[in-house]
Amino acid sequence: MKKIIKKFYGIDTSKVIQIDSNDKMNIGYGSFNYKIISNKKIFLLKTYKLNRRNLNFVKSENKIIHLLSKKIKKIFPQIILNINGEQLTVIKEEKTIYRMLSFIEGKFLSESKHSYKLFANFGKVFGKINKELIKIEDENIESRKIEWDIKNLNWNSKYLDYIKDVEVKKLVEYFLLQFNENVLPNNFNLRESIIHNDANDWNILVNKEKIIGVIDFGDMVKTYLINEVAVALSYALTKKENLFKWISKFLKAYNRSIKLKSVEIDLLYYLIPARLCTTILKSSFHEKEDPKDKYITISKNGAIGLLKKWITINPIYFQNNIKKELKIPIKKRPSNLDLIKKRKKYLSKAYSISYKSPIQINKAAFQYMYDSIGNTYLDAYNNVPLVGHEHPRITKSAQKQIAKLNTNTRYLYSSLTEYSKLLLKKFPKKFQKVFFVNSGSAASDLAIRIAKTHTQNKNIAVLEQGYHGNTAQGINISHYKYSGKGGCKKKKNIIELPITKTNNKNHIFKSNSELFKNAKRKIEEKKSLCAFIAEPIVGCAGQVVLPKNYIKELHPTIKKLGGLYISDETQTGFGRLGKYFWGYEMLDKVPDIIILGKPIGNGHPMAAVITTKKINKSFENGMEFFSSFGGNPVSCEIGKSVLKIIEEEKLQKNALTVGNYLTTKLNQLKNKYKIIHDIRGMGLFIGIEFKKINGIPATKETIYITNELKKQFILVSTDGEYNNVIKIKPPLCFSIANADVLIKSLEKIIRKLI
Ligand code: PMP
Repeated sequence: MKKIIKKFYGIDTSKVIQIDSNDKMNIGYGSFNYKIISNKKIFLLKTYKLNRRNLNFVKSENKIIHLLSKKIKKIFPQIILNINGEQLTVIKEEKTIYRMLSFIEGKFLSESKHSYKLFANFGKVFGKINKELIKIEDENIESRKIEWDIKNLNWNSKYLDYIKDVEVKKLVEYFLLQFNENVLPNNFNLRESIIHNDANDWNILVNKEKIIGVIDFGDMVKTYLINEVAVALSYALTKKENLFKWISKFLKAYNRSIKLKSVEIDLLYYLIPARLCTTILKSSFHEKEDPKDKYITISKNGAIGLLKKWITINPIYFQNNIKKELKIPIKKRPSNLDLIKKRKKYLSKAYSISYKSPIQINKAAFQYMYDSIGNTYLDAYNNVPLVGHEHPRITKSAQKQIAKLNTNTRYLYSSLTEYSKLLLKKFPKKFQKVFFVNSGSAASDLAIRIAKTHTQNKNIAVLEQGYHGNTAQGINISHYKYSGKGGCKKKKNIIELPITKTNNKNHIFKSNSELFKNAKRKIEEKKSLCAFIAEPIVGCAGQVVLPKNYIKELHPTIKKLGGLYISDETQTGFGRLGKYFWGYEMLDKVPDIIILGKPIGNGHPMAAVITTKKINKSFENGMEFFSSFGGNPVSCEIGKSVLKIIEEEKLQKNALTVGNYLTTKLNQLKNKYKIIHDIRGMGLFIGIEFKKINGIPATKETIYITNELKKQFILVSTDGEYNNVIKIKPPLCFSIANADVLIKSLEKIIRKLI
């Protein structure tokens, strides 16, 4: 090496240090880099494999550095000519290209203290660079296609399975999908330019609060101009709090040279995580294939940290704030008042809206919901998106199937039987048949119809405060509805059974055995029974857990009168309870019919009824069962994905861990604040009951707390006979950190209240 340097550059070298191998595993362009120390000066020698593509690219790289150096002084490496006055030394026998550059001394951005001033300078320098680059044409760069171009993000999805951490993987999948949904359709609305494309913090040299060097133009491509900013910020923002301040310092300075467009700001929200995804995907691959190469995975952890923060940022917050800073007009959203007025015009007043000041919701991701003015809400309430709002795997399975076929069960398609088999595997062997419908209400309606057909009886035992659906039958069997406002009282065939936590003075039982006796007696007042329908934890009653022996005690009576036991797992099923996959498991009695709804499709309207071979036999009486949409191929694909995600992301275990943690913390609050009367539930299905010192339900206070939590950007709801119970039933990806946020806010509000 020293001889070559002497021969071609006339430099006496005292030391040659290999400093890194730039992207050596990338198919395509890559170089070996050496620090050359001579008596007087330090140089950087880059060597490339000799082939036409490399030769052309290196020539273009030199050309661009030369052009930029004319406009922006002293921050780029100088090209050192060989003794023949050439920019490149090509040694054919060695199949190598040699390229000598001046060595810029300084600290890397990654090793320097960051300040807002430095960020502004960073933005200014890249604004100036981009202002020049946008004018340059170069065939070699323009024809280049590499995995590090954000535009080609989808190429890297082939590395998804190299990501071993399921939480990281789902975030990467989410932002990949967001890129496809938001960026790609705007492909032709985005300005293109040659960009440096690698403003990572190991390519930027700093002296105090100034950028003094920009190196490594080896990733240059022609792509969206805004990608330059996305790349720079995707590295520079790691490990930072108050992201928006840093972003705005960079962008305001950048914008002085290149005026950013509204669409570029809108999409920057998706392009930053897109680059983070590229980093994570490529480094996960390299980690496996080349574990010794630290350089290649150097940015991975920072990228993961930033991606986890990014998911908590509402895109509208990001977009509007930057636009405000850059004086770009912001599109107005409809006001709440306007939307409420329209709702009143077109919808029945029977519809309710949550909160005194309702939320205009715009988008959601996992346990976060984004409103239309930029707030991010922590969702501690919505149990329908069981595996998380807009989980990318659910979206993709729906998109893929709906683009192919969506039809009904009168045709043959394998997803129907595949899904049925997978679902039935989750139950004891005696459950061999499944019926698919589209809502919990339709499922409970059908469950009762099946029970009626099988038993030929009509009396139905229900629980106080139980809710099973909005159909005529659903209302008839829902004490919560028929006994409430606008209800038409109990039908003759309905037997109302008491539950434990009740404020009804006539129903205060000294012991569980008294409660069981009372319930038994009520059933025995009838001569026959069609069904007893119950939720294992009565949601609308305010998460009231049935006593362990409740069903066991009633079961002989139910059977004696010929009835079936129906468990409504619409709320409690699919692992939410942590300890149990299905709620009925905790009651030690296997039902005859099981109702599934809500989380079964993670938000897609689907539901099911599960029953035994024998009961189904009675239902096969000649009348066809048909549901136009129940069990359609799209629903089946979604259902399959839900089951798979619960397993892969260990969501039942998370419900147990986070649920136990939350319950412990809530009990600590209960011991501190008398207004908290009871903490109940199981896993991530929790109720907090509030009562005044005199034992009266603290309804007003409960509603106040719920509204205050909303002001702190946390979503919960109230329920129970007296609306004095806060219900917590978040998506199962709710984390310990999320639980801490909830507890902290709740305590703050309670303190203010008392
Ligand atoms: N059963 C239970 C226990 C429910 O909580 C609900 C919905 N809240 C239903 C049935 C009805 O489900 P859907 O709203 O999907 O019709």
